[in-house]
Amino acid sequence: MAEKRDYYEVLGVSKNATDDELKKAFRKLAKQYHPDLNPDNKEAEAKFKEVNEAYEVLSDKEKRAKYDQFGHAGVDPNFGAGAAGGGFGGFGDVGDIFESIFGGAFGGGFGGGQRRANPNAPRRGTDITTNIIIDFMDACKGKKVEVRTAQMQSCPDCHGTGAAPGTSVKTCPDCHGSGTVRTTQRTPFGSISSEKVCPRCGGKGQTVDSPCKKCNGAGRIRGSSTKTVEIPAGIDDGQTLRISGGGDMGTNGGPNGDLLLTVTVRPDPIFERDGFDIWTEIPITYTQAALGDEITVPTIDGKVKYNVSAGTQPATVFRLRGKGVTKLGSTSRGDHYVKVVVEVPRNLSREQENMLREFEKSLSGGNYQKRESFFDKLREKFK
Ligand SMILES: [Zn+2]
Ligand SMILES: [Zn+2]
Repeated sequence: MAEKRDYYEVLGVSKNATDDELKKAFRKLAKQYHPDLNPDNKEAEAKFKEVNEAYEVLSDKEKRAKYDQFGHAGVDPNFGAGAAGGGFGGFGDVGDIFESIFGGAFGGGFGGGQRRANPNAPRRGTDITTNIIIDFMDACKGKKVEVRTAQMQSCPDCHGTGAAPGTSVKTCPDCHGSGTVRTTQRTPFGSISSEKVCPRCGGKGQTVDSPCKKCNGAGRIRGSSTKTVEIPAGIDDGQTLRISGGGDMGTNGGPNGDLLLTVTVRPDPIFERDGFDIWTEIPITYTQAALGDEITVPTIDGKVKYNVSAGTQPATVFRLRGKGVTKLGSTSRGDHYVKVVVEVPRNLSREQENMLREFEKSLSGGNYQKRESFFDKLREKFK
């Protein structure tokens, strides 16, 4: 087995290369060595494979971290197996060693090698996240919205097979579709045969002669799509909806991941939310407060009439029961609280001032209850 080259060296990038640098280097080399551009060139084919393998590892955060720490042994389950005199250096841990030995010695009864992640096992797609901004009223009432997302989808060119259009997927000639191959090793204890993941097909049991160019043979590709999402009535600013199956496509028939949609609600100039209740401040005149009046109150259902009683004091709060926001997943609603702000008239004319002074003079006990009770208390205190 030839010495494996360092993945960073293969791509010609530094150990600190960013994702972007990796991608650029990969694209350039993959083009250079692509089998379609180098027909019958074994060397180019090998380089192409090497470049793909290096990129597959380094573009995956988790795999890259393992590679940085353990080298090839950290990311390649077959690395070191069969390397003459390589000892057990290539195995990930002691468990793997015993598994391989027993798996071979007892004819696979121990499930040799099966503990390793089966590349053919269905895997759920990754969740994706996005956000949307909606109006206050839409949050109260609910709304259907169109959400644009970018997620892994089945490649449209190869329909998920990974084989270039016009070519087909073939049973792997090395493992005849089983995904595993047997190797026999001579050791001081005798011959040990072990089963390992087929290096040619990576355990898939299938190979493609020319990988689909659009998805590089992966069968999946990131693409954008638009979804209609029902925003439920009652959603509040900063809440996240989980749309089942709206994320990345699963692999090997696994389910899709979910879409996590975070909702931002635009503030409203009149309504303020507190849970499922709504608060509004309504200015009324000094005279309306004194005499009482029918006022118009805006609610999320439209305008309603409300009778302010005579002698209404500033900052009085009245409640419109059930006029608040629909509770999530329920039909009941919060309340709408209206706080009365009494406005004192400004910029009075001389004539108006005089009228008001005359009016004030006409007042007697009982007209200003709060004031009287306050001064009574004050007198008590400083008697
Ligand atoms: Zn494809
Ligand atoms: Zn194979």
